[in-house]
Amino acid sequence: MSTHQFQAEVNQLLQLIIHSLYSHREIFLRELVSNASDAIDKLRYLSASDEAYKSVAFDPLIRISFDAASGTLTLEDNGIGMNEADLVENLGTIARSGTRRFLSAMAEDKRRDSSLIGQFGVGFYASYMVADTVSVLTRKAGEEAAWLWTSDGKGSYAVEPAARDGHGTTVTLSMNDDGREYLSSWRLEELVRKYSNHVAFAIRLSWEEDEYDDKGKKTGRKKAKDEQVNSAQALWRRNKSELKDEDYVEFYKNVSDSEEAPLLWMHTRAEGTIEYTSLFFVPSKAPFDLYRADYKPGVKLYVRRVFITDDEKELLPPYLRFVRGVIDSEDLPLNVSREILQQNRVMNNIRSASVKKVLSELKDLADRDREKYGAFAEQFNRPLKEGLYSDFGNRETLMELVRFKSTGADGWTSLAEYKSRMKDGQKAIYYVTGDAEERLRKSPLLEMYRKQGVEVLLCFDEIDELVIPMAGKYGDLELKAVNRSGADKEFEGQKDERKEKDLAPALARIKAALGDQVKDVKLSSRLSESPSCIVVDEHDPSMQLQQFMKSIGQSEGIDVKPILEVNGDHPMVSALASEADESRVADVAFVLLDQALIVEGAPLKDPADFVARMNRLIAR
Ligand code: ADP
Repeated sequence: MSTHQFQAEVNQLLQLIIHSLYSHREIFLRELVSNASDAIDKLRYLSASDEAYKSVAFDPLIRISFDAASGTLTLEDNGIGMNEADLVENLGTIARSGTRRFLSAMAEDKRRDSSLIGQFGVGFYASYMVADTVSVLTRKAGEEAAWLWTSDGKGSYAVEPAARDGHGTTVTLSMNDDGREYLSSWRLEELVRKYSNHVAFAIRLSWEEDEYDDKGKKTGRKKAKDEQVNSAQALWRRNKSELKDEDYVEFYKNVSDSEEAPLLWMHTRAEGTIEYTSLFFVPSKAPFDLYRADYKPGVKLYVRRVFITDDEKELLPPYLRFVRGVIDSEDLPLNVSREILQQNRVMNNIRSASVKKVLSELKDLADRDREKYGAFAEQFNRPLKEGLYSDFGNRETLMELVRFKSTGADGWTSLAEYKSRMKDGQKAIYYVTGDAEERLRKSPLLEMYRKQGVEVLLCFDEIDELVIPMAGKYGDLELKAVNRSGADKEFEGQKDERKEKDLAPALARIKAALGDQVKDVKLSSRLSESPSCIVVDEHDPSMQLQQFMKSIGQSEGIDVKPILEVNGDHPMVSALASEADESRVADVAFVLLDQALIVEGAPLKDPADFVARMNRLIAR
């Protein structure tokens, strides 16, 4: 026998599970059943696809039994099983990187939002909420040796050689006081129906009952009972007409490891040249790993009811990575490898039809239920925007689906709604980019638009900088960034030639004082209250994009200079025309530039210099 220590993260996870999921401790059964079903899936897949396993013929079996007298609950499967190395790897460490990351994020974040833990499969370790000790007797398919793993979940576990008939795994829980309530046939049956009804394999419950005679008296003997307790049907294969909302919700909770009902689902059976069934769900909350490169994909691939993979990021494009569900193909080969999947014609067809389906259902929701779609946008608008640059073929639909905050409406607004509110003669859709909604709402760049009653979209996601210019147009309307030089051309009618002439010398002096800090100094037609603002040249990257590029270490050649625009009606600027003192002109010039940068949320090159100039101006 050898004794091992749990990896530190396992102890951490155990603590977390016990503290945050205790009131849901019944989920331990769902987790064990799901492991058993996965193990059978894996073996079925191997026996169908791998020569070495061709001879393993087996009838899938998941059996739950219990014995109230000894206080034990047993869950047995004849799936793939584990050898000694698998046991150490799987039940002594946390193999899944997503879980590990989650734990370290939790450790750093003192708020410890443990509700998040409900978002992913806590798995095997949930057993320790109901059991004092857990033992795992297991034998791997194709191997002779069997192993017994035991642990009380308090830091260490033991592994020793054992004997087992045939491949598979038997997990035995010695229940603690809180676990004893589950040693009852009706309770277990209830739990299986609640959480595991649509596990594709039969789940049998076996137990012994007191035997009664005709007169209703105990005979003193025991009677063995054995019943199948789930429907054992892949839900997605059933007809929509037979399925109730509750069935979908329950199934979703199973496939997504989530406790919350989904926002939306779409169930499709495609018949014809390519046959497949898909069942997709849109969660009501964004998964915690939505913005992590190592996110866990949410769609499982089956081929003719045989589970193939739940770890394939290419089943749907990355911008739809929040979608959960199942694709079950009739046409793919069982031994489909990752490489094949990526180039396979059948898979490509399924993928593109699935994307179209998801997008059209979302469009439908948007048209039908504004409020619910708003809830969707709150969670998933940002990933959808990624589609604007990665999915050219669906760009038009995506343009209808993405939402914006705006100066012209509360909440989220669509481009179609913006268009319907446009002023007569307005030729473009205006937007401003920046790093925060509140800052944008106060930006001096919007002054003229506000005055003229022209609506501006507020874009404060990092990716807006990349995707909106790339999208370029909505129908025949150009999308114009107001923080770019030239966007105000439409309003040039208001330009005052005489003022331009009067102020030309002042502009020249500001420009001379600022030197190579700016690309140009111009008289602005977009300011009314503020003295200055900065814009970037029509084809230069914006300030935010420059900062973003720097933050990811790509600073080369990115230091583009801004254009300073000044408000000729503002006394700070107009007074310069008659100012004799060159050093005062320089102070004003730098303050005009620096305050415009501050309002933009851009860093100052020399804050001390700004303060000194400011103080000099105030002191006069
Ligand atoms: P998860 O199932 O989410 O990966 P668990 O902690 O439940 O996490 O299980 C860890 C690993 O242990 C599984 O990924 C699997 O490799 C292995 N395992 C658990 N239960 C079984 C079982 N009944 N048969 C075979 N392997 C199992």
